[in-house]
Amino acid sequence: MIVFDLKCACGLEFEGWFGDRADFERQQADGLVRCPGCGGVEVRKILSPVAYNRCAGSTATGSGSGHPEGGSGQPAEAELAAALRMVQEFVRRNFEDVGAKLAETSLRMRYGLEEPRNIRGFASEEEKKMLREEGGELLTIPMPREDEAN
Ligand SMILES: [Zn+2]
Repeated sequence: MIVFDLKCACGLEFEGWFGDRADFERQQADGLVRCPGCGGVEVRKILSPVAYNRCAGSTATGSGSGHPEGGSGQPAEAELAAALRMVQEFVRRNFEDVGAKLAETSLRMRYGLEEPRNIRGFASEEEKKMLREEGGELLTIPMPREDEAN
């Protein structure tokens, strides 16, 4: 599953869950992606928040239960929501928010201009592609809006 932040022509922003990016594009082409506010189909993808982890493979979430082997059915929606909140909390605490400078900052880390660390922020599709090619671990997760002014 992949979540996209979507924005309708009427200005409403909402989230859409899709099987993958191709699934989204197919549904959008067929006019199936509708605004929950006005029902319009003039919906476009906006920048989605991503977390970028320089140290691939060293992620410790503290759950200790290992990865699901499958065959035991789908986890309940409440469990998914709880897991998502855990991930959001983990990312908020352990990843430095660099906002729209996600790609720029990761490049600076790559070239030794900045201390390597876990960062989070926003990236365009092109930037995310570039970051993946760079070999880092890139997660796209829906994050609650943060309107705190520092
Ligand atoms: Zn709308």
